[in-house]
Amino acid sequence: MATKLARHDFRHWAARTRALGGCAQPVHLRGRVEHLDPLTGEVLHRYTTSREPGGTLRVACKTRRASRCPACAETYRADTYHLVRAGLVGGKGVPDSVTAHPAAFVTLTAPSFGPVHTRREKPGGVQPCHPRRDAERCPHGRRLSCTLRHGAEDPRLGEPLCPDCYDHTGSVLFNALAPELWRRFTLALRRRLAKAAGLTVTALGDALTVSFAKVAEYQRRGVVHFHAVIRLDGPGGPAAEPPAWATHDLLAEAVRQAARAVTVTTPEAPGVPARSLAWGTQLDIRPITTTGELTDKAVAGYIAKYATKAAECVGTLDRRIRATDDPNDLPVSNHARRLIGECLRLGTLEEMAELRLAEWAHMLGFRGHFSTKSRHYSTTLGQLRTDRIHHNQRAREITTGRLPFTDEDQVLVIAHWRYVGQGLTPGEVLLTAALTGTPLPPLHPSADERTDL
Ligand SMILES: [Zn+2]
Ligand SMILES: [Zn+2]
Ligand SMILES: [Zn+2]
Repeated sequence: MATKLARHDFRHWAARTRALGGCAQPVHLRGRVEHLDPLTGEVLHRYTTSREPGGTLRVACKTRRASRCPACAETYRADTYHLVRAGLVGGKGVPDSVTAHPAAFVTLTAPSFGPVHTRREKPGGVQPCHPRRDAERCPHGRRLSCTLRHGAEDPRLGEPLCPDCYDHTGSVLFNALAPELWRRFTLALRRRLAKAAGLTVTALGDALTVSFAKVAEYQRRGVVHFHAVIRLDGPGGPAAEPPAWATHDLLAEAVRQAARAVTVTTPEAPGVPARSLAWGTQLDIRPITTTGELTDKAVAGYIAKYATKAAECVGTLDRRIRATDDPNDLPVSNHARRLIGECLRLGTLEEMAELRLAEWAHMLGFRGHFSTKSRHYSTTLGQLRTDRIHHNQRAREITTGRLPFTDEDQVLVIAHWRYVGQGLTPGEVLLTAALTGTPLPPLHPSADERTDL
């Protein structure tokens, strides 16, 4: 810290650090950018990292994982909130008239893979977990009953009543195929809406657009489920009125039928028969209104909250499993260990190769995106970032924020970037917290354990 403070370029470094908003693991780049006039080849602007502190430019990691970088995850959460909210009430380029379009908040869950310890709250208080007076013993001699009223932080929550009976195979295959099940659901939804309107699916596109924003959330038992905002617009997106027949009730019924209709078949492999997976029986569909029980604001907050949560919330790792890892030594819950082990086992089967289960074992098989939206839903995260960069920047010019979001139609940009490292020294961690007012980040794994940039 003292060395950093004494350097001649400390002020420059401090300004750059503030601009990164307290990122705990900035990426260090070396290189240069030249802006040329495409017609004449004249150099309009030249930037090189050689004049930056230490000769490198640092850019924010932009992770959505709060366990990695609280500052960038907060930015992601806030952007997701505005993105979802714009799709419900307008703003950020979406017309206000969108509030009148039928919209529903839908939760699609995973099926059961065996009884797990649960906490059920009812108006009268917390209910017993799995009370079965005449519970039979499972083949492993365990009574499949639990009369405890679990506390909210009980580590047993989500753990199977019998870990040996639990269907770990089904659980990780469901996670791996959930994005495909979602895709089939959206297709089936369009088919149901077309049928209700007496149109073909192609003709439906000329009358109606189905827009959605969704997030994946891990349940404690280690399977993903999805929360989604589904909205009906006119042709081309939120600027157009949906047809009069597109009502809340019609949307709810179409969602219900589509969710019940779709299945996905798992690949067949030696010792692992093919099976058909579908959504769980718990299906929640609620209309979103500006005034009612479920408001647009509540939904946007709810979705944004889940956008930064990842699988580590259910007791697994926030990094990939390496060949050198001994599964028995991983600092995870026993349930997560079994699920990780099942991913690694199925990952060796040729027939399962395309599910890339070994690679995504730390995510318990899920390799989808945490938050996605359809093209017409609202603005994009990229646009929100670009707006913020333009808003914040002026003095800092284009260089620091430019990497992923270029929008050059008037100039030719030639960039040469080289990755030279990532992260902060212990002294820089303290200085960054002091300069940006962000909390000190959690203890980090060593630099070589960071995998998702
Ligand atoms: Zn960061
Ligand atoms: Zn229990
Ligand atoms: Zn058993």
